Amino acid sequence: MDNLISELGHDVFAIDTQMSGYAGITSAYLIRGDRPCLVETGTATSANVVIDALAHLGLGPADLGTLVVTHIHLDHAGGVGTLAGHFPRAEVVVHERGARHLVDPERLMTSARRVFGRVLDDVFGVLLPTDAARVRALGDEGTVDLGGGRSLAAFHAPGHAQHHVGLVDSTTGDLYVGDAAGVYIPETKDMRPSTPPPDFDLDLAIASLDQFRQVRPQRLLFSHFGPVLDVQGSLDRAEEELRLWVELVRDTRASALDLDHAVQRVTEKTAERYAAYLASEEVSGKFEHLNATAANIVGINRWLDATEGTGSALADPASTR
Ligand SMILES: [Zn+2]
Repeated sequence: MDNLISELGHDVFAIDTQMSGYAGITSAYLIRGDRPCLVETGTATSANVVIDALAHLGLGPADLGTLVVTHIHLDHAGGVGTLAGHFPRAEVVVHERGARHLVDPERLMTSARRVFGRVLDDVFGVLLPTDAARVRALGDEGTVDLGGGRSLAAFHAPGHAQHHVGLVDSTTGDLYVGDAAGVYIPETKDMRPSTPPPDFDLDLAIASLDQFRQVRPQRLLFSHFGPVLDVQGSLDRAEEELRLWVELVRDTRASALDLDHAVQRVTEKTAERYAAYLASEEVSGKFEHLNATAANIVGINRWLDATEGTGSALADPASTR
């Protein structure tokens, strides 16, 4: 258990949710204190890992005050229903555009099943419904009370997903970035963009990164994966990668490539930037599983279709995430 929990100071603990059995790709965070708060749940299939970790940190079923998710993708919020059942006193906090999916997950699960097929059950499991009375929907700004005068300030941070929020801890200056700054690879200190369909929007994503800079965080806490102290450098790299990847996908659209060739092209064109990442089969393999290059290309292509017009040969296959 100790290898799954990292103490980050000021009563903040990172919990490795062991998504799909992989160590080091998806994190939840506990802020312990007068009103303990879990940020992100991980997938439904990770719920028992998270429950055990919370028990190890002293939290029984009556002890969790809040469950808050940065957005409702199943690697972040898939466990909400299960955990809300286990922690009956916890309030569930989510952006207003995501709230109805936690109360009635059927549409979300149907579209996830269409995208992931049989893999869905193994990788994500089933998001169970949460009683509407326990869900608090955030507007563009909001607060999560952590007790003892401490709080999380929530603000809308779309781009990766239209209902994504960022959360800043009033005591530590930690910023929970969810997927809004992409994926951080601890092993190689790289940043990979996370631009899946259907919501990815470059302009909104860049605006969210600007907002992140403006709150002057002390530390970035990535859901994938872990704490990062180089705040400016990471946000700058996130923006640089987003702009580059969009540019590369724009080029592949002009060259009439299909998705497989587009993946090949983008991988080749970014290979120098990700030399250490690509050199380790273990690292790139596990993160590709979470954050597939093909999914990023499909998401970017979809945004380009919407903003620059369709007619590209790069198809938008519903079978890819
Ligand atoms: Zn994610």
